[in-house]
Amino acid sequence: MTQKAFIIRLCAVMLLGLVAAGVVYAFESQRPYVLTSEIEAKIQEKNASSTSGAMRIPILVYHSIQPHQAGESLMKKRFDISPETLEEQLRYLKEHGYTTITLEALAEDIRSGTTSPVAKPVVLTFDDGWQDHYTKAFPLLEKYHDTATFYVYTNPIGKDPRFLTWSEIQEMSAAGMTIGSHTLSHPLLSTLTPAQLQSEVVNSKKILETHLGKPVVDFASPFGYSTKTLEQLLAQAGYTTGRTGYKGNYHSKNDLLRLSSYYTPNSTSDFVWVMRYAP
Ligand SMILES: [Zn+2]
Repeated sequence: MTQKAFIIRLCAVMLLGLVAAGVVYAFESQRPYVLTSEIEAKIQEKNASSTSGAMRIPILVYHSIQPHQAGESLMKKRFDISPETLEEQLRYLKEHGYTTITLEALAEDIRSGTTSPVAKPVVLTFDDGWQDHYTKAFPLLEKYHDTATFYVYTNPIGKDPRFLTWSEIQEMSAAGMTIGSHTLSHPLLSTLTPAQLQSEVVNSKKILETHLGKPVVDFASPFGYSTKTLEQLLAQAGYTTGRTGYKGNYHSKNDLLRLSSYYTPNSTSDFVWVMRYAP
């Protein structure tokens, strides 16, 4: 190969790399957590409508709990945290007087409008039903005497080894963890027909309840989006809480089916900011 041909090929490869990075970035930018102007507007709107009975109870959203690896995707970098970081955060909560509560307790606090009976309540949630929720998160939660909600989407359970098994889900439920629905197939809900949406919401609840032998009343929408239609469907199906990916720590009675949350940051300073200062 001549030097000129080599340089042309090198430029082509670099250009392809840039385009690929752009596509990944554009895709990532569609996620609620990084759509800042839209989300900020929603927060303002919510803050304005949440004047009476709004209570500050952080809801933290975790995804996979595994060590970061070289070459991992931007999404993994942003959403996954290592077991060490999770332990650091659980230790921070303990040392600073926080108490982990269930979403049912959060709903009760907000409905009654009284101060939470526990000091500095916080809700921990884990999305998607990854296998490391059982092997990494569950032992740490038990070690620190914490409770958490695991939002599971049911299609890969018992079929795909990257996800939890039914017996692991049953064991965590029996040990005081809450299991919530994260749909059947983790679709972008806005792309579904009404019948498909209904099936994702209703049938995932039924499947979880059959395996657990107890009611499942907590829902988290994939990718964090929510709409009025979804809220109505959740209420009809018998859910009492619905968690979104819209950022916010304050909740009021009207928000129980569109609860705001924060995706858990990797850095300690960001985590402390979410716990102490974030609106
Ligand atoms: Zn998810």
